[in-house]
Amino acid sequence: MSNFKVVIVGAGPAGYFAAQALQNLANDDCTFEIDMIERLPTPWGLVRSGVAPDHPKIKTVSKVFEKIASHENFRLFANVEIGSDISIAQLQEKYDAVIIATGSSLGKKLGIPGEGLRGSLSAATFVPWYNAHPDFVGVDTPLDADTAVVIGAGNVAMDVARMLALEPSELDPTDTADHAIEAFKKSNIRKVYISARRGPEYAAFTSPELRELPKLEHTNVIMDKGDIEAAIVRTGDEPEKEVKSNLDAMLLIAENPKSEHERTMQFLFQHTPKEIIGTDRVEGVVFSTPNGDVTIKCGLVITAIGYQAHGIEGIPFKNGKVVNNDGRVNENLYVVGWAKRGPSGVIGTNKSDAAAVMQLLVEDLKSPKNVGDISVLLTHQIVVSRDHWKKINEAEVAAGEPHGKPRKKSVTREELLKHADL
Ligand code: NAP
Repeated sequence: MSNFKVVIVGAGPAGYFAAQALQNLANDDCTFEIDMIERLPTPWGLVRSGVAPDHPKIKTVSKVFEKIASHENFRLFANVEIGSDISIAQLQEKYDAVIIATGSSLGKKLGIPGEGLRGSLSAATFVPWYNAHPDFVGVDTPLDADTAVVIGAGNVAMDVARMLALEPSELDPTDTADHAIEAFKKSNIRKVYISARRGPEYAAFTSPELRELPKLEHTNVIMDKGDIEAAIVRTGDEPEKEVKSNLDAMLLIAENPKSEHERTMQFLFQHTPKEIIGTDRVEGVVFSTPNGDVTIKCGLVITAIGYQAHGIEGIPFKNGKVVNNDGRVNENLYVVGWAKRGPSGVIGTNKSDAAAVMQLLVEDLKSPKNVGDISVLLTHQIVVSRDHWKKINEAEVAAGEPHGKPRKKSVTREELLKHADL
């Protein structure tokens, strides 16, 4: 019987699904001891710091993660950073296999003038800010103007636009960071534009997300019926299933009667951002459109046009991804999730993706190295274990309960560690 030691770097969906795949592949001849390293004091990755707080159902996948983590051969080493605390080379030496599951946390840039002005932010900054990510608590998010523009036609842009256009008291029963709820309540923003550079038929939104928009209780959602009808004509008699479903959902939005809500979310198609204007801070966005240039005055621009992976010393990166061949990187190094394939797909996509890579990993394994693990290398760090995380989790859930929230998130590392008596 062979017992292999595997380490997963990154405690997000891809990391947990990789662990689950290994647990499923274990048999009488081959077992796995799985260690998971996470930079933050808290696990769950995008499920904690990315998923929109008004989408609590999506977060229930964390129950699956906790079940995977409850396995006797699973250990969590959170609050441990690759690079400063431990290197990839050290991991490769100690473990039979190393799996990178660090996702893509850098927002892609538009590369247009004015992008650096105050009030121009990436969703990669804005989303973790409202989700209480400790590294983004102090982000400057000016919400004092009446208009915001969100650039991009994907689900992240939609999340951001919805968060800005919601009646903020709707966020009270969610796990949105307290500082963000407070800022949204003081916000002057009443009009949120969401701009797509191509027509509705090319939008990357998915239809369940579109279909929930007319249900917003305090926000008018506006699409131009002519835009959608023209797209329906362009796609012809046999559009792809997803495209048809999206266009049907958009037509419903366009036809939905508008009410007297003061908050609006308006979609602009065929608007390509050309320049963000302003002197000290954002004052507007110039778009090129089929009818010429159009300027939209606004005080906030959020760019949600995709993500890139962070570089990690000792790992080859290209085009915002880890260089890999079906998840194999080199020697005993593997990659899963967004760091492998780029920022696409929903959380569940990572399950089949990780399972396929773990199948290859298991085929590559020969005999166990038996040279110890990282616990001997991490004697000076404050490591958040599974039991510590349990305490943090319970403290946050208990703090949320009197307010009808699923949890009240702690936002600083110190506060989080204190919950764990660390
Ligand atoms: P995405 O789905 O790839 O959408 C990116 C959008 O940015 C596209 O509309 C793209 O337009 C646009 N874009 C790219 N470069 C641009 C530029 N230079 N100027 C203007 N627009 C530009 O990415 P995402 O929204 O970041 O989402 C990432 C993944 O997470 C997706 O698979 C998404 O479905 C998933 N997600 C799911 C949920 C959910 O299930 N509720 C929530 C959030 C995210 P073009 O097509 O013209 O390039």
